Amino acid sequence: MSDLTAALEEGSTPGLVCAHHHLYSALARGMPPPPHIPADFRDVLEMVWWRLDRALDLEMIEWSAKLAALEALEAGCTAIIDHHESPNAIDGSLTVIADACAEVGVRVNTCYGITDRNGPDGARRGLAENDRFLAAGGRGMVGIHAAFTCSDDSLAAAAELAENHGVGVHVHVAEGVDDAEAVSRLGELSRDNWLLVHGVHLPDDHGLRGTIVHNPRSNMNNAVGYARPSRFSNRVALGTDGIGADMLEEFRVAFVAARAVDVTASPDTAWSWLKQGWDLFPEARGDRVTWSYKPMDPWHLAYTPTVRAIDVETDGDYVVRGGVATRVDADEVRAKAREQAERLFTALR
Ligand SMILES: [Zn+2]
Repeated sequence: MSDLTAALEEGSTPGLVCAHHHLYSALARGMPPPPHIPADFRDVLEMVWWRLDRALDLEMIEWSAKLAALEALEAGCTAIIDHHESPNAIDGSLTVIADACAEVGVRVNTCYGITDRNGPDGARRGLAENDRFLAAGGRGMVGIHAAFTCSDDSLAAAAELAENHGVGVHVHVAEGVDDAEAVSRLGELSRDNWLLVHGVHLPDDHGLRGTIVHNPRSNMNNAVGYARPSRFSNRVALGTDGIGADMLEEFRVAFVAARAVDVTASPDTAWSWLKQGWDLFPEARGDRVTWSYKPMDPWHLAYTPTVRAIDVETDGDYVVRGGVATRVDADEVRAKAREQAERLFTALR
């Protein structure tokens, strides 16, 4: 029996990995409603997320990241691959996020998602923030919002910057039908170290290189369709797209989404997507989470909601003990995040 198998039997796992998150979205819960109910995915972006990201300042970003990191740790997730956008607070934003996660005790890989939707200067400043952060030794990638909001020049510049830093590109791909041209726009640029997020509307034989990150709950929430990730020859990992970082929960949703269209679908497949996170963020393999349930077996977990992380250890230190974060005062983080959420909501009204 391998060490991992023995650990799973005894109710512990390595730290879980969220392969696609938006730490800036943690304050969005309860935000003022848009002027009308979004009718499609493009509406959701324009009336919810692009309104929200334009209103963010560095203080909101800091507390949003701390709250999201705290909630990740409380759910046994020790490593987050973040995709950030804040068009009116770009410079220094990635460092604010990295520092916030370090304070809570969560590993983070972040990037700035460049876009031309706020004019070419926005894309240029986004690229500069990726470059600044990576050059200073930050753990990250180069971010692109999505092909459909970027010019060909911006896409090529992001790919080149990533190559220069020896990292991949983290990009939303074919999440909605608006981005159906992603294959032809990114085909020549993509590399094996890229993260291709969603892929809902990709053809089976799309030819893009990289790991597909499946975000089943977000896809349902935005009514963009089911990605059917099993059809891809690419590696597949699991993310939340900003709806928390409870990866056991996302695994369960991934399983039931697969099952909804195929009664022969096995939880082992969704579990393999969760495990792919350890290839993307290898340090998490050395972290240890002790759970309220054993065994940590896919067939058990698919049908056992409410499994909780009791203890979480990273680098030999407890960052959660008895369900309580040790490095920050969880009540204080929640209270400060609430204050920042109120500031954000006021800016949105
Ligand atoms: Zn996303």
